[in-house]
Amino acid sequence: MSSLPQIPFASLRDVVRGRVVLPADAEFEDVRRPWNLAIEQSPSAVVEAVDADDVAAVLRFASTHAVPVTAQPSGHGATGRADGAILLRTGNIDSISVDPDARTARIGAGVRSGDLQRAAAAHSLTALPGSSPVVTVTGAALGGGLSWFSRRFGWMADSVLAADIVLADGTIRRVDDSDPELLWALRGGGGELAIVTSVEVRLRPAPAVFGGRLLWAATDSRAVAEVYRAMTRSAPDELTLWLELLHFPGVEPMIAIDVTYLGLEENAREWMRPVESLPVPLSDTRGMLSAADLGGITAEPTAPSAGLSRGELLAHLDDTALDALVNEPIAPLMTVQIRHLGGALSQPSDSPHGPLREPYAVYLFGVPASAEIAASIRAAQERLIASLPVTGRKPITFLTRSESLADALPVTSLQRLRRLKDALDPDGIIRGNFGLPDAERISSKNFDADMMGTSANGIPDME
Ligand SMILES: Cc1cc2nc3c(=O)[nH]c(=O)nc-3n(C[C@H](O)[C@H](O)[C@H](O)COP(=O)(O)OP(=O)(O)OC[C@H]3O[C@@H](n4cnc5c(N)ncnc54)[C@H](O)[C@@H]3O)c2cc1C
Repeated sequence: MSSLPQIPFASLRDVVRGRVVLPADAEFEDVRRPWNLAIEQSPSAVVEAVDADDVAAVLRFASTHAVPVTAQPSGHGATGRADGAILLRTGNIDSISVDPDARTARIGAGVRSGDLQRAAAAHSLTALPGSSPVVTVTGAALGGGLSWFSRRFGWMADSVLAADIVLADGTIRRVDDSDPELLWALRGGGGELAIVTSVEVRLRPAPAVFGGRLLWAATDSRAVAEVYRAMTRSAPDELTLWLELLHFPGVEPMIAIDVTYLGLEENAREWMRPVESLPVPLSDTRGMLSAADLGGITAEPTAPSAGLSRGELLAHLDDTALDALVNEPIAPLMTVQIRHLGGALSQPSDSPHGPLREPYAVYLFGVPASAEIAASIRAAQERLIASLPVTGRKPITFLTRSESLADALPVTSLQRLRRLKDALDPDGIIRGNFGLPDAERISSKNFDADMMGTSANGIPDME
């Protein structure tokens, strides 16, 4: 792949119907950028595919010329691995077809979570949305995907019933139960094996959804964090609680409890009764919602923006961990979010991630307005993580650019994925945002292959 300059990228225009943008084109500067503007990426060409045939044509071109292809619907999870590659935008593959009787949806690979939620909510159904309505269902599910409703229904990927894919050689293929190994890999094994053009997902009944945010001044942080922890210890799987420390520039620091509950308001309020012992909140947006409006709870930015994040899983949330979280100001970080996991996520699972025994995840986020601020954000992330009971692995969708699938998946899953990669894409044409180590590195990984299913690494079964 060293002779990239001689590759006739302009001839992609002869074989695809979607727009092809090359570095010499005026629009290139705009279209090459990922959603996360903190990540620089310099692809060789950008193709906005309109259907599976376009994707197949791109992959045949790429195989012929030995150039990598990276699918990137929007780039929330961009890592810079698109450098030199053909950047395949799937946003125009956006059809949604809901079968309310079967409780399934067939969606194009570019469909965003909020759009699927809207289509499902029209039938009192829900998919498994995360916090942001503008990430794609396919991109998140390929990385496992942590949803508001994962405690009740598992990984987003567990809801994937079938997928239409294009292999590195341009072959179009449907993957379902009749191809269990590849279906297993697509349910959370990352984006290294194939380009997905559509997925079929299971929907869940959601006749009633409760949710919202309670907000206090950071001076109440310790009390709020203790109440949060107490509520998570007895929460039913239908109740999901996140704790969020917030410090926006020019605004006094605050702390929030974000909630969703799959069920009736009176039951949700009963489970959350301990918050009534806290000082009166600055605001309380809790109430019944449409499953289409879940993206409003955390109100994360939907327009492209710059962010430096770091995600980790926590073995517990003891007093020392609470001290570390609330005793010091979080700045220069903007948000520190604790997500309660457990429930269905902790059950035995054959998914690539395996069960998540860790009861909490932490996500540390800052906006790197300058190189200096970026350095101080990284230092703050390191400092806080050093004082938290992190277990060292994390979901794929929480990985950062310096990490690989080996930081998320157990050895046995890495080995299975590597065998598939070698069989389906021996020349390494398809490049996901996180790489798959080679067989030798996987086998030398200092990682207990059984740790995902046991408490041997010190993770309590459940608090
Ligand atoms: C504000 C914000 C909120 C988030 N909230 C959550 C959350 O609640 N839960 C959670 O789990 N994650 C969350 N994430 C992470 C997010 O799920 C990942 O970034 C994920 O990659 C999806 O983002 P995307 O659709 O922009 O995909 P992109 O970043 O564009 O793509 C990421 C990777 O997915 C793979 N991929 C995507 N589409 C295809 C395809 N069609 N075929 C093959 N491979 C493909 C490729 O490897 C690609 O590099 C959040 C991220 C942000 C920035």
